[in-house]
Amino acid sequence: MSGMKLVKIETGNFMADGGALFGVIPKVMWQKKYPADEDNYCNLAMRCLLVDMGDRKVLIDTGAGAKQSDKFFSWHRLNSEANLLDSLTSAGYKPSDITDVILTHLHWDHCGGCVYYDERDKPMVRFENANHWVSETQWQNYVAPNSREGVVYFRDNMQPIYEAGLLKLVEKDGMIMDNIELRILNGHTQGNMLPIIHSPNGSLAFMGDVIPVLPSIGLPWVSAYDTKPLESIEEKQTFLKEAVEKEICLFFEHDYYTECATITYGSKGFEAENLFTLNEWSHRNSGV
Ligand SMILES: [Zn+2]
Repeated sequence: MSGMKLVKIETGNFMADGGALFGVIPKVMWQKKYPADEDNYCNLAMRCLLVDMGDRKVLIDTGAGAKQSDKFFSWHRLNSEANLLDSLTSAGYKPSDITDVILTHLHWDHCGGCVYYDERDKPMVRFENANHWVSETQWQNYVAPNSREGVVYFRDNMQPIYEAGLLKLVEKDGMIMDNIELRILNGHTQGNMLPIIHSPNGSLAFMGDVIPVLPSIGLPWVSAYDTKPLESIEEKQTFLKEAVEKEICLFFEHDYYTECATITYGSKGFEAENLFTLNEWSHRNSGV
């Protein structure tokens, strides 16, 4: 679709322990590819994506929002002036323009921007005209969390969406609209959605926590947050093979340093072929 526009929406940064982020990979290896501070914390973006197709304006993920306690946010060392609303506004959009919100999953740093508190502390839906798409199995996991994930789900992030009748459950893989495909994976969390945007100029995958940062393309580089690491490795391998074959560009939600990359298969396995900003990738492919 020639009129499609892709816009990155930066919603802020937070810090995560590098050991947790890279799982079983020793620090002597990962620190060469992703820097950490003296406390071993790595800086992570919460970079969302707006797919503007004219009649449909689709936002993928919404960042952390601002509802949780100062204490909670201080643990995660939020460290950016960027936020969802300002980034949308400076890109020329109002929350009421958004027709669809696709949530890869419901961990706090992916769906916190869906609801905010007004001056009287009343929870308000940010995107009142939007259907909010969540996989059915992720919703079940959110409603009745296991002992690992209970602490990363917050009820006030999604309950108002459900009550407003704006929650739409995705049951299976497939095209959700003309140009957006959803794949349902289970390694990071049950029912994690991987959105792939197809345009005549190329395909772009919104990696979310499937491949959170560029170094995570290495097959054993699975974060300790993943609930089923062996499935994560298999899912990653299957996807990366396809990404090499079909030249699908990867869009990183969490990589502070790299927005997009194409992948190749070399002597050391999967590696980055070219790095791009989203704008560079879009322009490269449209020949502008
Ligand atoms: Zn997650």
